[in-house]
Amino acid sequence: ASTSGTQPTGNGHSVNGSSSSSDVSSERVQVINDEKEFSPDLSKQIEKWGLQSAGFDYDIVAVFGSQSTGKSTLLNRLFGTNFDVMDETRRQQTTKGIWMCKGKGMNVLVMDVEGTDGRERGEDQDFERKSALFSLASSEVLIVNLWEHQVGLYQGANMGLLKTVFEVNLGLFGKKNPDGRNQRTMLLFVIRDHIGTTPLANLQATLTADMNKIWETLSKPAELKDRQLSDYFDLSFAALPHKILAADKFESEIQELRKRFVDKSREDYVFKPAYHKRIPADGVAFYMEGIWEQVQTNKDLDLPTQRELLAQFRCDEISSAALQEFNEQAKPQRRPIESGKVVEGLGKMMSAWRSHALERYDRDASRYHQGVYKRKRVDLVGVLDSTLSPLFFGQLKNLHKSCLVAYKKEMIDGMRGEGYNFAEVVAAARERLEKRFLEGAQEAVVEGTDWSYEEELGLLREEARIVADQCRKDETKKMVNVIERNFKKQISEPVEVYLNQPSPDMWDKVLKVFRDTLDKAEAAYLAKAKSFDCTEEENATALAILRKRAWLALRAKIDEQTSDAAFLSKLRNFFEERFRYDENGTPRVWKPEDDIDGAFRKAKEQTLELIPLYWKIKPLDPSLEFTLPSETSDPLTSTEEFDFPATLVIFSETKSLDLTNRFRKDADAYFVEAKRSTVSSVAQ
Ligand code: GDP
Ligand code: MG
Repeated sequence: ASTSGTQPTGNGHSVNGSSSSSDVSSERVQVINDEKEFSPDLSKQIEKWGLQSAGFDYDIVAVFGSQSTGKSTLLNRLFGTNFDVMDETRRQQTTKGIWMCKGKGMNVLVMDVEGTDGRERGEDQDFERKSALFSLASSEVLIVNLWEHQVGLYQGANMGLLKTVFEVNLGLFGKKNPDGRNQRTMLLFVIRDHIGTTPLANLQATLTADMNKIWETLSKPAELKDRQLSDYFDLSFAALPHKILAADKFESEIQELRKRFVDKSREDYVFKPAYHKRIPADGVAFYMEGIWEQVQTNKDLDLPTQRELLAQFRCDEISSAALQEFNEQAKPQRRPIESGKVVEGLGKMMSAWRSHALERYDRDASRYHQGVYKRKRVDLVGVLDSTLSPLFFGQLKNLHKSCLVAYKKEMIDGMRGEGYNFAEVVAAARERLEKRFLEGAQEAVVEGTDWSYEEELGLLREEARIVADQCRKDETKKMVNVIERNFKKQISEPVEVYLNQPSPDMWDKVLKVFRDTLDKAEAAYLAKAKSFDCTEEENATALAILRKRAWLALRAKIDEQTSDAAFLSKLRNFFEERFRYDENGTPRVWKPEDDIDGAFRKAKEQTLELIPLYWKIKPLDPSLEFTLPSETSDPLTSTEEFDFPATLVIFSETKSLDLTNRFRKDADAYFVEAKRSTVSSVAQ
């Protein structure tokens, strides 16, 4: 390198600051190096210059002109940059490339093209053509720098090169911007070493005529044949005095020219919005690289395609940056949700992450090609929502579970003690369940998504219904048990009394008291069941159970009263009353003349008649007969088959015979005892 302060980097590019300053703003970057390679550092450098989020709020200017015409000197004066200026004493420059600096205190990217004018020196014209093309495609303002004496000299003013550049790019300029306007560029002619004898106006007229002449001689495609130079370019002019011979004037004129780059209120302000290439600052490096690549491979420059490629690249980058932040926010909530927790304020958090990611994306990406921006936004929304939806649905599931637990607890608490109304307890718990779930579910919904909690709510309602049903069944069961216990208490005594007073209508009495008590029990059930919201069917089932249990309770009481021992003692008592007592209830004292045999036989026969009275539950009055459907199965106690007619039988035939025999033996003992007593009384 010919200049101090330039440090080549490993990749053949140079990035550096001026030797005297480490100020970032004075750093420069070699966008295109001697080897015609694009710098990998441009993007980073633009960021370092603080332009990353400038959006469209920046401008690009480039310079074009013969070698050693004071281009770098001009740029440094105008923009406070520090491009290399050719050493006066050596008067030669061999480096080629395009350098970029940021204008001091202004958002202007300045490009200095080194090594132009190969044509004049008979050297490599390829680089000149490419760099000019590149400058035109990326800059708003192209400064065409030339000596006054070059005006009107076709070759010397690089007019030939301009012609080539215009020509190969007619296709490029023919394409319109997304907003329908032509892409416009300003060509600012700066005439150097202006002596003053020829007024600027005359020079201007000559240059304008020359440009138009070049334009006319271009071989244009048929569809662009009527296009004028002015459809694409605005021409502007400035003249500067000799730098050495009129040094003061030179400096003041440059300051005057500078105003056209900084003072937006001036009519001749050069950075008009129409010239802006509408590439967001954060995409400039990628865009320029694409342009250079096309220029390098001699492809027709197609700016709309470049814009779209840029948009795809940048929108992807912006999207993944937004997504990364979003994922970092969302990740910590995944575990609690998976472990079954209801995360407080999840919906608010999710909405915030989501809208923050989208705002970030919109802010940076919306400046790019709208079609691409919108397409990638849809993709981004898809990824965001597919990350959030498991949290949403997990939250719903957890909410469902916790609400159901609270619901069950409320039901249990509500049914503590006496005097509660089951239906009211259920209704209140149910209302709170829905309220709680809806509050949580509505909180979790994120605006802009199509998530719904209706399905989960449906499931929850269904489960709540099952829980309530189960509770009601348990309650009914409890109630039936209570009624059954009361029933048993109520029938116990009367049945015992009736069974101890054998008479032909004994079963009528037993069945009557059974019937009455059962009616009362059924009425008690129905009164309570009203508050349970029980269905007809459930009531029918419960009543059937109640009837069967009542019947079995009666049977148990009868069994107790007719067990072998109890029944034999009944027979004995009955027999004794008739054999050992007379009609008046006075104990008999047997005398030898008494008809012991007759009395014994009579009492025995009467007693034995009791067996057919007791063996089966059989009222005299047929209307008192009780029946139950056989084989009623009890879903509450899972009772097996039930054969009602069998339950009417108290003793089997064998049992009857056995009891008869056992009683006979007891009776015989009484007889023998009676006989003995006469013998002993005779003996006295
Ligand atoms: P570049 O090659 O076009 O970038 O030219 P430089 O800025 O490196 O300048 C080349 C030489 O011309 C240097 O020695 C400058 O001092 C000198 N120079 C700069 N501006 C002017 C000017 O306006 N008039 C004259 N005559 N010389 C200039
Ligand atoms: Mg230079």
